[in-house]
Amino acid sequence: MLPTLFLSHGAPTLPIMDSPATSFLRGLAATMERPKAILVASAHWETERPEVNAVDVNGTIHDFYGFPRALYQLTYPAPGAKPLAARVANLLHAAGLPTTLDPARGLDHGAWVPLLLAYPGHDIPVLQLSIQSHLGPAYHDKLGAALAPLREDGVLIVGSGSWTHDLRRFRGQAPDAPEQHDVAAFADWMDKAVQEGRRDDLLNYRSRAPYAAENHPTEEHLLPLYVALAAAGPTPKPVLLHTSAMFSMLRMDAYAFH
Ligand code: ZN
Repeated sequence: MLPTLFLSHGAPTLPIMDSPATSFLRGLAATMERPKAILVASAHWETERPEVNAVDVNGTIHDFYGFPRALYQLTYPAPGAKPLAARVANLLHAAGLPTTLDPARGLDHGAWVPLLLAYPGHDIPVLQLSIQSHLGPAYHDKLGAALAPLREDGVLIVGSGSWTHDLRRFRGQAPDAPEQHDVAAFADWMDKAVQEGRRDDLLNYRSRAPYAAENHPTEEHLLPLYVALAAAGPTPKPVLLHTSAMFSMLRMDAYAFH
């Protein structure tokens, strides 16, 4: 069975950079069985209630401003996954999470940036699921758990966010600037909690992890982790796939959960 993944998608410039995280994502597909479809819960689609996109072909949303022109020319026209969208809505509904189909939405950069690097052929159907950032970790744990049956059908479930994400510190930082102290402290605490399977600590990271609010002033970039973790079942076996830091404040850690 396919693992679920948590991927840190980094800055939108990731596909046109030469970074360790870029290389990691380029090599990711070769380490896994080819999925029949990919479901991405991205930090960049926040809604009141769960929504999934049900389209024939995914559009590419360039949801960022002031970056190099080359980025706005990148597209990821992967086929949509309408039957899967209906199945996801049914699974979530059965878990008490009424879900709406969006017939128009494409892929935001939280979805297409890592997929462009990992699956550049854009020939695998892709579906995006929104997150509800106002509802916190326990809610996203429930959301992920409801998706677990999809793994048996060859669906790769991806949570796309960022291990740390304080964008107030982003501007002016060189891509390879040394990692800031509190970024490392928070990120390493999270890594240890994931690897030791400390579910309760993870669900309560905001009060228990050092510098939690400093590294996630808002929670949307961490919540996809809980979706990926829970979708792997009650006792997920974590494998750290990648760790690096960019711009001194973005930890790019990635996990597979088996
Ligand atoms: Zn992002």
